[in-house]
Amino acid sequence: MQKTDLPKKLSMSDKTRPPYQALTPEILAALRDALGPEAVSTHPEKLGECAQDASHTRGVPEVVITARCEEQVVRLLDLAHRYRFPVTPRGMGTGLAGGASPIHGGVVLSLAAMNRILTVDPVNLIAVVEPGVVTAEVKRAAKAHGLYYPPDPASLDTCSIGGNAATNAGGPSCVKYGVTRDYILGLDVVLPTGRLIRTGVLTRKGVVGYDLTRLIVGSEGTLGVITKLILKLIPHPPAVTTLVALFPDMTHAMKAVTGILTAGLVPAAVEFLDRRCLELVGDLLPFEEAQDAGSFLLVEADGHPEVIAREIERMGLVCVDHGAREVLMAPDAAKRDRLWAVRKEVSLRIEHSAAVYIPEDVVVPLGEIAGFIQCIPEMEARFDLKIYCFGHAGDGNIHLNITACEECRPEQVEEGVRALLAEVLRRGGTISGEHGVGVAKQRYLPMELDPESIRLQMGLKRLFDPHFILNPGKIFPWSEAL
Ligand SMILES: Cc1cc2nc3c(=O)[nH]c(=O)nc-3n(C[C@H](O)[C@H](O)[C@H](O)COP(=O)(O)OP(=O)(O)OC[C@H]3O[C@@H](n4cnc5c(N)ncnc54)[C@H](O)[C@@H]3O)c2cc1C
Repeated sequence: MQKTDLPKKLSMSDKTRPPYQALTPEILAALRDALGPEAVSTHPEKLGECAQDASHTRGVPEVVITARCEEQVVRLLDLAHRYRFPVTPRGMGTGLAGGASPIHGGVVLSLAAMNRILTVDPVNLIAVVEPGVVTAEVKRAAKAHGLYYPPDPASLDTCSIGGNAATNAGGPSCVKYGVTRDYILGLDVVLPTGRLIRTGVLTRKGVVGYDLTRLIVGSEGTLGVITKLILKLIPHPPAVTTLVALFPDMTHAMKAVTGILTAGLVPAAVEFLDRRCLELVGDLLPFEEAQDAGSFLLVEADGHPEVIAREIERMGLVCVDHGAREVLMAPDAAKRDRLWAVRKEVSLRIEHSAAVYIPEDVVVPLGEIAGFIQCIPEMEARFDLKIYCFGHAGDGNIHLNITACEECRPEQVEEGVRALLAEVLRRGGTISGEHGVGVAKQRYLPMELDPESIRLQMGLKRLFDPHFILNPGKIFPWSEAL
């Protein structure tokens, strides 16, 4: 292809159409040549598989590239940069914000086959892994050496570590251990220009230059493709114990959460389900008493057995002091597994039960959880919604599962979502704690970020990706980003 065949850089008046090159037979031949024919698929079934993530955002790719090594990613992005076609990185497609959906067509780059655990180093307490490794595998490999990789998104059996890094995934253990970003020391990243950079360190510390590792983590595949990760590991906690507390309502439960955290106790997880969720999954819980509770807390402590036995007892007492109707201590391992399985099942049951389903994952400061929860019934009545709440109470991350009936007015639902998000922000919270912006939350971005932060962030995107070929239309609409 001659340079003159390239689409011109868009001027502001060109904003009505994306500036991308279709994947002509010539470009397909160049891809097969550079990456090997087996890496390139235009099979309709494969294209269909990579059309969306776990959200409803869809966009059919023209080609799926399955990379098996870093060099293939470098070659692909070099071609994309030269020919200007869009590339959407994809881990396992469990994202909930439309981040892996190829909304502008082009190439989906699947990293799922780059799935080797390269090293687990028990002396330096690190692991080096490829991005396609399933998160649960990373945890298992660390455990085999007596080590612990704490991040535990509920999807850990089906999502990839590269996807976790790109979304800065969190999970129940965040209350004690932090999020994915806290366990990434360094990365290999292929930039949208086809250049490879190594960010970060192999050590526990490192302050040389700007922290590109922390910038790439959470950038939702818009700044670079992660091809290798250096993970920080810690010693595996020797034991874990659990309690379940049943409350008459959510307000009491949330006050108990703040009570636990301000009593100098450090739980390893504090998960909650509200009354509506209990109505949906109460029958699956291994405690009959839970079925008619107003709210349910699952609290865990990990560490040395004697220490956590004392701690969990104190946590139970705090629950009783805050009005728990019942506290069930340390269920056996089978019951504990069942509890977690049910907790993971909730969102699926909610989605199947409603005609309209909008999952939001807001976070409010701990002191605001109870107040925020109290305002939900009023919002439900005002906008004719039914809202199911569950999530990570220990870090204020409330999964607001907003549902409405088939006959609802979409504008009214949207107004309700905006009102809820505005309430979260008014209380000092954020509109997404885990799932990211992707496409799903793009229109709400200006509610949280001021115009100057958005301008600066778009400037970063431009610096990394001058032709907007990498995951275009995510976080910011492409037309505004140009
Ligand atoms: C049932 C269920 C439960 C969930 N629970 C949680 C939870 O508890 N906590 C949580 O945080 N999330 C949760 N999620 C959301 C999802 O699992 C996470 O966002 C996860 O990190 C996505 O990983 P993935 O491999 O599926 O990535 P994908 O969905 O494939 O991609 C997600 C984003 O990352 C980008 N990306 C993927 N791989 C790379 C790479 N190698 N380089 C650059 N960019 C890349 C994509 O472009 C996209 O923007 C849940 C989802 C489901 C369906």
